[in-house]
Amino acid sequence: MERYNLPSGGIEVVMNEAEAGGAIAATASPTMSSEWQHRLPKAQKIKPFRYMAIRSVVFVGIFAIVGNIPVHSKITDPEQVDGVEHLVLDELQDDTEEQLAINKINEQAYTQELALPVASAIETYAGHAVEPLPSARDGEWELHQIVRGETLDDILKPLKVSTTAEELMADEAIKEELTRLKTGKKILVQVNGKKIEQLIYATGKRKAYIVSLQNDKYIGKWDSELFEEQHNRIAFTIRNPYHYEATKAGLPKPISRQLVKIFKNQVNFRSIQIGDQVSTIFEDYHYQSERIYTGKVLAAEFNHRKNIYQRVRFVRNKDRTMYLEPDGDLALKEVAFARYPLKGGRLSSGFGFRHHPILRKRRMHSGIDLAAPRGTPIYATGDGRVRFVGRKGAYGKTIELSHSGGIMTRYGHMSKYKPKLGRGAKVKRGDVIGYVGSTGRSSGNHVHYEFRIHGKAVNPKTVSLPTKGILTAKEMKSFKRLAKNMRYQLIKLRDTAAIDRNVRRQFGG
Ligand SMILES: [Zn+2]
Repeated sequence: MERYNLPSGGIEVVMNEAEAGGAIAATASPTMSSEWQHRLPKAQKIKPFRYMAIRSVVFVGIFAIVGNIPVHSKITDPEQVDGVEHLVLDELQDDTEEQLAINKINEQAYTQELALPVASAIETYAGHAVEPLPSARDGEWELHQIVRGETLDDILKPLKVSTTAEELMADEAIKEELTRLKTGKKILVQVNGKKIEQLIYATGKRKAYIVSLQNDKYIGKWDSELFEEQHNRIAFTIRNPYHYEATKAGLPKPISRQLVKIFKNQVNFRSIQIGDQVSTIFEDYHYQSERIYTGKVLAAEFNHRKNIYQRVRFVRNKDRTMYLEPDGDLALKEVAFARYPLKGGRLSSGFGFRHHPILRKRRMHSGIDLAAPRGTPIYATGDGRVRFVGRKGAYGKTIELSHSGGIMTRYGHMSKYKPKLGRGAKVKRGDVIGYVGSTGRSSGNHVHYEFRIHGKAVNPKTVSLPTKGILTAKEMKSFKRLAKNMRYQLIKLRDTAAIDRNVRRQFGG
């Protein structure tokens, strides 16, 4: 009897050399490799019993390797191959000459046919010590979404940490990965004290480049196991004050606060009712199986006094986040005009017939006067084009804007215009067009503001301001698609909230 260790399988095979005819023994012996090649045809000619014995031992050998398939398949996971390969190389360097020879023979004898990476298997069985990562729980995590053209330096600056981007990218491999950051992807930074302990550059929901401080050196690697961006779902029924219930249901504090903001116009959180139901879907970031950061509410539903309110998050042009009703076209409109062209100011004269302070006669005042210090900026009240810039009799220095729907706005008595604002120029609501003054027939610094519809002056203070769609046709289409999906999930969550209520009713929880 002889005992052989099959290095690739990690299983010990015991066999009798006499019965096996020596041929199989060679498979595990580095010195007999050539013999194995020559003797194989002979083995097929020998007596049936011996032949069977050889076959069965060959099968044992094959099964020993096949038995490791789960290990291999894990290793050959495309996202992992890179990391494992490096480890394999390190491992082989430490191996003895003899082991290397065994690997080689083994590869020829069995694994070539099976196409299994023998070297990897050895590495897996030998095990290897991996440097433990710093704990995800230390310090604070910060999240940043990358804006076009942003560098790591730009991202770290507001964090006020002592670690510089240069220090983080001292390693060439890290520098390679973090030099050109992809717009829209996220970076999570773990700050402990004033130092960056770890940085996660998340390029997928699970795929991330992780840089961590190990023995005062930053080490970087791609990983698809440690990090995960989840869409978490929580639903609950109100029986106690809102924040109490939210905490009990496991809702992170920032999320319950966001919900209060989102529904502030529909729900009075102080007079919340027993039986009200809350469901929400939100972003949740996990690292090393710990929740490290809670992101934004993606969708939410509040069933308040039997009214169901739903909101779905929509990000427009990466700069404006809105929570919109998934099926409410009305909510997708907004007022197209600001009521007044000044921030602040004082209404010094109203619209309509009045006794004119300078002319000392009853006169129609076709606009309103807003008093403010000289030089106060005057803003365009709506999107439009410049129709007129210049002096206009009693109005003094005047700008007129034309807007869609036959609307014209006029701003008079300016001290000066916004430089380079010529006729035909496009303006956006909120753009500065000029500055308060007292030019023309005026008794003090103010802006005379008119709102005309098809030429007819109306009272700017009371006119019902036109609305416009918040979203463009393209944005509307993409929102509808998103909303449909979120709505479906919210309805499913509503069932969970209902179960929550029933279970508690039953058990008096
Ligand atoms: Zn006036």
